[in-house]
Parts: sequence; C-alpha cells; structure tokens
Amino acid sequence: MPVHTGSLSRRDFLTQGTLAVGGLAVVSTLGWAYGEDAATNPNLLALLSDTHIPNAPEVIARDTNMTSNLRQVVREVTALKTRPAGVVINGDCAYLKGLSEDYANLAKCLVPLQEAGLPLHLTMGNHDHRGHLFAELQAQRPKQPVLESKHVTILETPHANWFLLDSLTETDVVTGEIGAEQRDWLAKAIAARPDKPALVMAHHTPQFEPPAEGQAWGGIKDTAEFLELLTSFKQVKAFLFGHSHNWSVTKRDKLQLINLPPVAYVFAAGKPNGWVLAETRADGLSLELRTIDPAHKQSGEKFDLVWG
Ligand SMILES: [Zn+2]
Repeated sequence: MPVHTGSLSRRDFLTQGTLAVGGLAVVSTLGWAYGEDAATNPNLLALLSDTHIPNAPEVIARDTNMTSNLRQVVREVTALKTRPAGVVINGDCAYLKGLSEDYANLAKCLVPLQEAGLPLHLTMGNHDHRGHLFAELQAQRPKQPVLESKHVTILETPHANWFLLDSLTETDVVTGEIGAEQRDWLAKAIAARPDKPALVMAHHTPQFEPPAEGQAWGGIKDTAEFLELLTSFKQVKAFLFGHSHNWSVTKRDKLQLINLPPVAYVFAAGKPNGWVLAETRADGLSLELRTIDPAHKQSGEKFDLVWG
C-alpha cells in the first residue's frame, strides 16, 4: 500500500535514495509540493520515532497498545491547523522482527496521512527490515535499483537541510552503525550544501564509550568517526535520534542532541511518549512535545534552540 504521497511538485523538495554499500549513492528525486498550499508550513515537520507496530492491532507490550498510540498520533498530525511539510518516523517502525505483517498493520495506520497528502519518510531501526518494509509500503522503495543498501533521504527545506540516515545493521540486533560508505556519502552530501544548517537524523543513539567487555554496542558503534564527521562541518547543528525511548534535548559542545520520544511504550515509568512538532527557523529549531497522555507533566514542553 503506497503511503508516500506523490504530490507533484514544481521544485525538488525531497531527495530519497539508496546508498549502495561499496558504491556511490544512488539518489533519486521525489516530487514534494510546498508553498503551493497556503495552509502548509514548509518549515514544519512532524517527528515520530519508535512506533513498534506489531502484526495485529490488539497486540499489547509493556501495558501499551502501540497501534492505538500511532493511530492517535496520526489523528493529531492530520488535525493540525497548520499543515506540516511532512512526517518522519525515525526507525523501529515495526515491533521487533520487521515482519511483513507488522508493516501491513503500519500501512493501515498511516492511510490518513496519505489521504491528507502528507509526505512520509521512514528511517530504519534495529527492529526494521528493509525488504519487508518496501514490500508493504511500496512508495518508500527508492526508484533506483536496490542492492545491499542503506536507505537514506535528504529533505531540502527553506531554513535547513535534513539528512535522514540508516543505522540498521541486522534486524533484531541492537547494535547500530552508520558505516564507512554512508559516512563518505554523508560528508559529500553535507559539503555540497554549505549554505544552510544541516540537521542529521538516524535511529540509534550515539554511544560515546565502548560497552563493557562481553557486552554488545547498544548504540552507534562508529559514534567516534560519525561525530568527528558531524563536527567537522560548521553547518551541522543537530543530531536527532530515537532508540532509547527517552525524550531529551541536550548539547555536546556545539552540537544539539535531540532524543525523540517513542510513540510506543516508554522504558522508564514517568517518561513521556508521543511525538514532536519541529519548526526550523532562520536561526534555529523550535520543538514542541506532544504527549500520548495529554495530562503528562511534560505535555506541550517546548525548546527554542538557537544555532551557535
Ligand atoms: Zn531501536
């Protein structure tokens, strides 16, 4: 079921492609209209992460019905008075093993976004499976042939360029990795866009220290190389990620680190789940937390980040 809208633009807004491992990036262009509709804010994106959609709507984990949560979020996004330019789900779209049935359920949940003409992009988390995803959400499949690959997207918006990366190594293996080929591609893609802030997103958390002996990396295995790349470009302002189900906005030197909340369950009682409405400005990024529980103490929490 296609969920990517193909709304037919006069200019290129979204570039999506597949990065062939060991080769050059293959980048295709999808049309994405903005500015054609006065009610759409081209600087506004709905950021979702860790939806963990299972094979059937009634499945519950950690006292949470993940399908209900996503349906609620989709209702909220489509009810926004100002239309966002798109919706991103930053990985762990599927529950645990990236089953075809998970993506079939996900596709059904996302139909209202398609009906509303909202472009969607999914990134790959450790519980995702590229082949099963592309089979069930065919509009997500890049137009170029897919070999062994990473799934990457560039969103070019008026105030910033977003680089959506693929940190999946193997389905249902916790460790994430950007990898040398994707880092090389990213360096070129960022260097080619020097005139606007670059906001980089991948599913996995950065992991600054190696794991204890005998333990697996739970975050991005090549965090050191990846961070070195990001900080080598002055236009890179923020890294956004999910995976740890732990909403937070912090800073490491000049780089903003934004940990998106899960749409699905939280790992620690009292943490918020929900989604984030993000609006880029000429000088920064405004974030607003929308919680699943409207009575959560952090409901509506806002951050107005200013680029240094
Ligand atoms: Zn994850």
